[in-house]
Parts: sequence; structure tokens; C-alpha cells
Amino acid sequence: MNLGFIGLGRMGSGMARNLLRAGHRVTVYNRSPEKAQALSGDGAQQAGSPAEAARDAEAVFTMLSDDHALSEVAFAQNGIASALKPGAAHISSSTISTALSRRLAEQHAANKQVYVSAPVFGRPEAAEAKKLIVIPAGDRDAIERYRPLFDAIGRATFVVGTEPSQANLVKLCGNFMIASMLEAFAETFATMEKAGIKRSLFLDVISELFGSPVYKNYGTVVAEQKFEPAGFALKLGFKDVRLAIEAAQELNVPLPLGSLIRDHLISAMAHGQEEWDWSSLALVASRNAGIATGT
Ligand code: NAP
Repeated sequence: MNLGFIGLGRMGSGMARNLLRAGHRVTVYNRSPEKAQALSGDGAQQAGSPAEAARDAEAVFTMLSDDHALSEVAFAQNGIASALKPGAAHISSSTISTALSRRLAEQHAANKQVYVSAPVFGRPEAAEAKKLIVIPAGDRDAIERYRPLFDAIGRATFVVGTEPSQANLVKLCGNFMIASMLEAFAETFATMEKAGIKRSLFLDVISELFGSPVYKNYGTVVAEQKFEPAGFALKLGFKDVRLAIEAAQELNVPLPLGSLIRDHLISAMAHGQEEWDWSSLALVASRNAGIATGT
């Protein structure tokens, strides 16, 4: 297929590379051009603007930091909404608000373009290794048409609804659960440390109990305190917990645990951890327990 791909950060570069590996023709755009140049060795064409990446594409992926970045890329002059052909699709993989997802669906429908929301679970290593979990929502025929693209970037695809914003809600709630796991690790590791029990030993027990690679992988990062370089920046994790609270609030669902984690993430940012991995949330519980963290 003739594709566009916009946003070649930690996640986007691996996803775009896998679309190229699957034999698609991919025109890429990134705000900082050096990240787009890095993909030319893999066969990508480089565009000078989001509109140029979208103009001849049957589908254009976006994988950008947040609502602000995606709104600019979609709606600004030289944005994709002005350039995508009627019948062509915007496949949005960024973790964004349900409100922006609804706005994108309306705007693309008004332009006779297709909008599929397709957020992903998995860290940059999974993006590179084609092991993401893809959760598309939108028009069923469109999802079937683009299913080979989801297969090219992930290990599993779960269609979660016909309204694109449903996928964003599933993604936000999934990340809220990961954040809750990080908070639980933070508090239990601080307790272990004060009791003189090795974190790695506790993690072995817990990994056996839960049998989840997510527990094992994140637990290892927290136990070893390897928070740099970030796989997922803490400031983006804060964005996701905030958006999960907002989305639940629209449905009159309180997320008391979400509110607590949101405040702990604010505390982490106040200690200069915005660009560290979001698992460094664990340092907040350590500091609260009087454990020296060096931050
Ligand atoms: P990242 O490495 O920080 O990349 C962000 C991308 O957005 C870069 O290409 C950046 O361009 C671009 N960008 C930011 N502001 C922009 C603007 N105003 N206009 C145009 N482009 C802009 O982030 P990431 O970790 O790849 O995450 C991307 C998205 O995937 C986020 O929504 C995140 O929540 C989600 N996600 C992340 C993970 C993970 O583990 N990392 C997993 C699943 C989902 P520059 O290169 O010019 O800065």
C-alpha cells in the first residue's frame, strides 16, 4: 500500500520500519527532520510536511506525543486533514483524549475521509520487534481493509468497537492499570528495602505469582532503578493518567487511585523526572519512606 507515517519518535520509528519491511511504500514526516532521514536507509521517502506525507497515501499513520501535537499535524495549514484524498484513512495510534478522537472522527467524516483510531500497547522494543498489541476501533470495513497494516506492526489485534474514541478509552484505561501496578511496586519495594529484603527476590516471587511479562519487565526496571534512557517518558505517563481521569469523569466514574497516582506523578515531575521513564514514579514512595534517592 501507499502509506504516510508521521511521528518518528521512540514508538513511531519502529512501527514505520515494520511497515517498510512488510513491503509497503512509506512516505515519512517528522518535525525534527533527522529522525526521518534515519529511515531513508530502510527505504522510506521523506516528506517536507504532514500534508505531503498524506497527499498520495491510501492511509496515513500518526504517532505523536499528545493532543496538542496531533491537533497541529491534523488541522494546521499543511496538516493531513487538508491533504488526504476522499476515501483515504487517517490511522491514529497516539495515546490521545477521547474528546480529540471524537473531533477527528467528525472532521474526517466531513472531508469524506476515513478515521480509524488504533492505539497500541507495548514499549519501543516491542514496536521495533513487531510485537505491539493493536486495538483499532472505527468502521468495520475500514478496519478489515487495513488489518494487514496492524499485522505488520503487531503480534495481536483486538477490534474494540465501531466508535473510534472507544479505542482511546481502552488504551487510557490500560495505561491506568500499568500506572497502578507501578504505584504498587513503588510502595512494596520501599517496604522491602526498609525491611532489608532484596527487591530482586520479592520480584521473583511476584513474577511467579502473577505470571505476567508486564509485571516482570516493569518490576525489573523498578528493582534495578534504570530509569534512563526512558522507554516511555514520565511526562507522557502523566498525560495518560490525567486523560484517563477526564474520560472516566465524563462517564461519572470516580478514579480515586488515578487521582493519587496523578499527584505522585506531579511530585516526580517536581523532582525533575519528566524525561525519565515513568517507572521512576517508584522514587516518590521511596522518598515518602525516607529512603535516600539522590533526587
Ligand atoms: P516520543 O519519542 O516523545 O515521540 C513523540 C513524537 O511526536 C516525535 O516524533 C515528535 O517530534 C512528535 N511531536 C511532538 N510534538 C509535536 C508537534 N507539536 N508537532 C509535530 N510533531 C510533534 O514519544 P513516544 O514514546 O514515541 O510516544 C508517542 C505516542 O505513543 C504518545 O502518545 C505515547 O503516549 C504513545 N505510546 C508510547 C509508548 C511508549 O512506551 N513509549 C507505548 C504506547 C503508546 P520530534 O522528534 O520533532 O520531537
